[in-house]
Amino acid sequence: MSTTPTKLEPLAIHGGTPVREKLLPYGRQSLNEEDIQTVVEVLRSDWLTTGPKVAEFEERFSAWVGAKYAVSFSSGTAALHGAAFAAGIGPGDEAVTTPMTFCATANCVLYQGAKPVFADVSADTLNLDPGEVAGKLSPRTKAILAVDYAGHPAELDALRSLAEQNKLLLIEDACHALGADYRGMRVGGIADMTVFSFHPVKHLTTGEGGMVTTNDTALAETMRRFRNHGISSEARQRQESGQWFYEMVLLGFNYRLADIACALGISQLKKLEPNLARRREIAAQYMKAFRNLRAVEVPAVRDGVNPAWHLYPIRLNLESLAVERADVVRALRAENIGVSVHYVPVHRHPYYRDRFAYQGGECPVAEDAYERLISLPMFHAMTPQDVEDVVHALQKVVAHYAK
Ligand SMILES: *Cc1c(COP(=O)(O)O)cnc(C)c1O
Repeated sequence: MSTTPTKLEPLAIHGGTPVREKLLPYGRQSLNEEDIQTVVEVLRSDWLTTGPKVAEFEERFSAWVGAKYAVSFSSGTAALHGAAFAAGIGPGDEAVTTPMTFCATANCVLYQGAKPVFADVSADTLNLDPGEVAGKLSPRTKAILAVDYAGHPAELDALRSLAEQNKLLLIEDACHALGADYRGMRVGGIADMTVFSFHPVKHLTTGEGGMVTTNDTALAETMRRFRNHGISSEARQRQESGQWFYEMVLLGFNYRLADIACALGISQLKKLEPNLARRREIAAQYMKAFRNLRAVEVPAVRDGVNPAWHLYPIRLNLESLAVERADVVRALRAENIGVSVHYVPVHRHPYYRDRFAYQGGECPVAEDAYERLISLPMFHAMTPQDVEDVVHALQKVVAHYAK
């Protein structure tokens, strides 16, 4: 990183020249010709949905993450719903989860008529603090629903022991963490169920899509039924065995992922390794560039963990800045750096505040972090120049606003 800005460099927000001409988004997909051709082939085939590509994608995916089973869903949110259903979460139950996530994590508990209970996060990783989780368990608790924030695995060993001691299931929302390692294992085969998303900003995309991996045969079977109206066999099995008879055995949904999408997933999975490596390289460059910047805290990485870097969330040291986070975000956007904020703590959203009468202050670590968080652009197709632009812009903006 070559640029050493001076305080004199005028900010774009004040009429200066922006660091780049075109907006760099915080995340985006990359598709190549092979991805496109794979999808075109499916469009010409006999099966647009519920065909052979579904099983193939599930098999390859489960092998890649190191789990026995993978069950695909029409989105990460549907996958979370499927996992909550399979966990037996129902009316009157509770699931302990983190506020530092996308609202879908907690919403899946509400879909099942149960209550998400928020436990605070650890200050370094912003992942669930197992001690806080222990304090939130009640006779009603059915599951712990952890998130691998930004792609850094949650404290899975501690959470798994807590779950075992209290006869709960551990569900891991790994929508940020496809490819992350935890103590020598890939995320996906560690928790009772692990949930992934294939939204375009994630590591692998199918447009919309999701997956749950598990080593438990019964959980996998329940989720297969749940995503298919609660029907006990699939159309292709029936067609192949010449059967017309089927039975609906539970109340499910149509949450199936189409063959068109699964074909794209298979093709994208082939590039996951190099894409992950690229994200890790970008994270290392950011770390090096910002480590000694007084106004910026880089994300922590615990021992024994290799994050997947869905996000690169820095925290501002507001004490050393003359402005608020919002001003820094506006200034970076004016430089054409598409920064974002992940996340408004879930219990601070109006729906949750109104429904559960949260006043603020329930999860002080998450709430404090929220005031200071900024997600820098992070996606595998970023060029060296893109990375340099982000570094330049952040250095320029914080130098300008330094106290
Ligand atoms: C993306 C995401 C989801 C939802 O996934 P969709 O595929 O968009 O439905 C859930 N949880 C987390 C943490 C996510 O990042």
